[in-house]
Formats: sequence, structure tokens, C-alpha cells
Amino acid sequence: MALQRWRTKEFLSDTRKNNMETILKTNITIEDVCEGFVYNELEEKGLFGLDGKLTIQPEYQRNYIYAFIDDGKKEIAVIDSILKGYPIGLIYFNKISENEFEVLDGQQRITSLGRFITDKFAVKDENGMEQYFTSMTEEKQNKILKTPLTIYECEGEEGEVKEWFKTINIAGVPLNEQELLNAIYSGPFVTRCKEEFSNSQNANVKKWSAYIRGEVGRQAFLEKALEWVSKGNIDNYMSSHRYDENIDELKNYFNSVIDWVSSVFSDVEDEMRGLEWGRLYEEYHDKSYNPDKVSKEVQKLYADPRIESRKGIFEYILGGSADTRLLNIRVFDDATKKSIYKKQTENAKTEDESNCPHCAIGHEANKRKIWNFSDMEADHVSAWAKGGPTSIGNCQMLCKTHNRAKGNR
Ligand SMILES: [Zn+2]
Repeated sequence: MALQRWRTKEFLSDTRKNNMETILKTNITIEDVCEGFVYNELEEKGLFGLDGKLTIQPEYQRNYIYAFIDDGKKEIAVIDSILKGYPIGLIYFNKISENEFEVLDGQQRITSLGRFITDKFAVKDENGMEQYFTSMTEEKQNKILKTPLTIYECEGEEGEVKEWFKTINIAGVPLNEQELLNAIYSGPFVTRCKEEFSNSQNANVKKWSAYIRGEVGRQAFLEKALEWVSKGNIDNYMSSHRYDENIDELKNYFNSVIDWVSSVFSDVEDEMRGLEWGRLYEEYHDKSYNPDKVSKEVQKLYADPRIESRKGIFEYILGGSADTRLLNIRVFDDATKKSIYKKQTENAKTEDESNCPHCAIGHEANKRKIWNFSDMEADHVSAWAKGGPTSIGNCQMLCKTHNRAKGNR
């Protein structure tokens, strides 16, 4: 929330160049906004608020729908949020004159508040009892009334304000992070970026889709390209390149990552989509790989039913097949562990040694220690990576210290 507010502010300060001004108001309460609230049942519209100064539903906006969505659960949710002290999001007013405002964004929420305060619907209290506003305790009523809203007042030419509103609110679908950043840092750089990365006609999109998840039109590819080149500092990167006319650095880096992945891994598997290729490129692109060997390894691991996490296969191979944690290898089940524990413990008692075979051959204080089941972990006697199966014949129980010392091999 705080982040978004800050970004919106950044964006807004920039819009001043276009004669549009925006002021953040945080002192307007629900009571203020709902003063003189009028709801028109016939037209299903919240009409006015703010003591007559606010037009809640300008002509170009849709009718009040919260009351009809999920049996009104949405308008109840607005009240529940307020009662719990959760934010209900940014509200935008268009300032027409000193005493005239229109709701640009937030009419559904404001209408919910107004309808509740005028007893048009009830919410359930802690005991599940229906409660109308006027039947609430004064304390609860005040909690609602005195809650301040976060409101941006936008002032400018009508067309300008509406145009701007259209960009922040495409057909009611909220902007995602990257779309918002594109709006904030609009300029030649973003324009060039979009030509390259947000263009579904670009023949490369199909290739990129093998590695990147998301919709090209909603900036998923641009976001990745920026994330990779900036090592995660998209904001800074866009800010410092905002007025650049060329995007060569971005393009080159992006292509290097994609070319690298596709040359190391000749197979294209579903699980490759959405991996952190930027990070993997940084970590491993200096190493050399034999694509044929890599391919065989990929196929072998894909065929292995013990591997729970196929998307870990690629990093596992890049890292020299050392870190099996990436694969989330199927573990020994409880019955196997208990049966091995029982066997080892009985044996250990007869031999007067520890039931952890590693402790038993050591010289430490634990040489004769009988560990509890809960203090031990299952281990592959013959290492998983060397083909050892996850079956009872290859299971031994070790104390936690020894199992972890042995590593996850
Ligand atoms: Zn031990």
C-alpha cells in the first residue's frame, strides 16, 4: 500500500507538466464523505456526499454493483475492513471547482459506506448477529465515522483527467506493478521498451514464452527484461534511463540470458517457464556445459519418479548436480523409518552401542547413546545422487547431527 502510494505520488508530481494537479488528502473521514448521502433506489445509484459537494456517480460511470455481487458480500466486506482497521484503498476525486467534486475511482466503496450508515444493509457482529449501523454502540459507530480515507483530488482539464484516469484504470482492471511503472516513467525509453517487449507481433515472443510466464500485453516480458538487467532494481533502472532514446543495453542483456538458456538446455520443458533465469545466468554463465550431456541428464531426471520438484532440475544441473535439495527428492515414509529405527535400536542395545551408526564408531560422549526416534533422521546409505533408491533396503537412521554433517547427498 505504502509503496503504491509513493509511486502514485511520483507519477502525479510528473503529471503537473500537463497542467494536471493532484493533492493527497488524508483528513477526510467517512463521516465527511457520507454527509448528506443520498441513494437512489430506482436508479441504483449513490448520488451525493460531502455535504452535497460530491457527485458519487458521474454519468460516465457504471451503476452501483457491490450490492448485487455475491449477495452483497462485497459491500459487507467494505464495512468489515473498516471495523478491522484495514485500508480500503485509494480513492480519486476529480475537482471541478472549489465546491464540486466527482468520484473518479471509489464510487462503489463510498456507496457501500453511505448505504451502511443509512441502514440500507446490516453486517454480522462478533456473535453472528445482524447489526445495522444505528443499532451499533456509539463506540463502533464512531470508529466507522472517524476513519479517514486516502483521497487524491485531481484537478485539470476534464478531458485530461479522464484520459489519465483511463490509463490508471483500464476497463476496471487495476494496473499491475509494471504497468504502473510504465505510467510513472512514461517517455521515450518506455515507448521503445514496449515496441520490443510488449508487442505480440514480435516473432520472438513465442521463443521467450518458453522461459517467461505471463502475458506480453500485460508487460510480463518487459518486466523480466528490466528485472534481469537491473538485478531487481526496476524502479531505479527505469528512472535513470527514462529519457534514453535507445534500449540497447536492456535488449542485449535480455538476449544474452535467453541465448544462454537455450544453448545450455536444448530441450524445452514446461517447468522451465518462469524460472529465475536472470539469477541463474549471473551465477552460471561463466561455466561451460556440454549441451548433449545436459540434455541426457535432463531426460534422466525427468524420468525419475522420485523427483518431486521438476523445476529444480535445471538449477541442479547448472550447479554440477551437487544440491539435491533443489529436486525435493521423495523421502522415506514413516513406516520405513520406524521399522529401521526399531531394528537399529534393538541391535544397538544388544551391542551396547549407540543406535546412530556414526555415533557408535566415534569416540565422543554419544558412543553409547540411544537416541529417540524424534532425534533421528532417515538417510540414504547409498547416496541418492549415485542411484541409491528410496527404499527400505537403502535406509538408515542417523542422529540429526550426523545426518546433517553428511549433507544432503
Ligand atoms: Zn550420530
